[in-house]
Amino acid sequence: MISPSDSAAAPFDSPAAPPVLGVRDLSVTFTTRRGALTALDRVSFEIARGEVLGVVGESGAGKSVTGAAVIGLLAGGGRVTGGEIRLSGSRIDNLNARQMRPIRGRRIGMVFQDPSVSLDPLLTIGDQLIETIRTHLNLDAAGARRRAVALLEETGIPDAAGRLASFPHEFSGGMRQRVVIALALAGEPELIIADEPTTALDVSVQAQILDLLSGLCRERRTALMLITHDMGVIARMADRVAVMYAGRVVETGPVDEVVRRPRHPYAKGLMAAIPPLSHRPERLVSIPGAMPRLSAIPAGCAFHPRCAAAVAPCSVTRPASVADGAVRVACHLYGGAS
Ligand code: SF4
Repeated sequence: MISPSDSAAAPFDSPAAPPVLGVRDLSVTFTTRRGALTALDRVSFEIARGEVLGVVGESGAGKSVTGAAVIGLLAGGGRVTGGEIRLSGSRIDNLNARQMRPIRGRRIGMVFQDPSVSLDPLLTIGDQLIETIRTHLNLDAAGARRRAVALLEETGIPDAAGRLASFPHEFSGGMRQRVVIALALAGEPELIIADEPTTALDVSVQAQILDLLSGLCRERRTALMLITHDMGVIARMADRVAVMYAGRVVETGPVDEVVRRPRHPYAKGLMAAIPPLSHRPERLVSIPGAMPRLSAIPAGCAFHPRCAAAVAPCSVTRPASVADGAVRVACHLYGGAS
């Protein structure tokens, strides 16, 4: 589970059943002209086989940086400065670019918000799928083509065999994202990282794409790390949730528990921002204030300037992550100061 404080009990120490993804005490720093900025500060979580972990928080919480660190694609001078990342028990944070290349696509599939990141506009989707399949799996051209058609059928593309010759621009946004999901699954990965996979899509197709992605992952027992700013998506899709704020995990646990009774004041705020299904209010309840810049992370609990429940130690001491039932929460209201 989560937190610096429970690392001794981390199940990925057990060689019998390592989680597909184990992230422990991960820190990421960006080197800038103004000095080193900490983007992730001792982040820990894990994802089991077939499990959907929702990683949620506002823009700037560190969700996408976490995903980028896992796939070894930190941009803009970012580097891992502490902790470790394990894929099915083996460390991958210390691999170089050449060693990481075959892991991306083959063992970790990716679905980004913008399909154009994954799709080459100049190649047919058949060429892209078949090439990806042949890169990662030991199949001849005919076998790879059959698999490409099967993947497109599974992702709900009508006339899959006929659409192999189509270019990405010939698909709608929702259909393009279905192709990206097919590409992500092409190497039969253990883990898929989906970063805001439906944010750019029309609201009417968002739920279909999310259901498709989680359904295909569950069928294959593929672990899914679903990054989103939308707690409503988490409530609908995830088995467990990790709530991030200012580069830290502040609450984690089974999604039913966190949705039913969020502990951390920030998690409560995210829950309150979900519009009710029955009606759409004119204005969403939101959390006052803004996520701090990396250059100005407040001391103590990083959330304290926005927190209506803050108590004396909050501006001074970073709260330790403690267990509260099935949930772990880093907040002084739940005891324990680090
Ligand atoms: Fe609020 Fe203090 Fe808890 Fe931070 S530690 S969330 S400031 S009560």
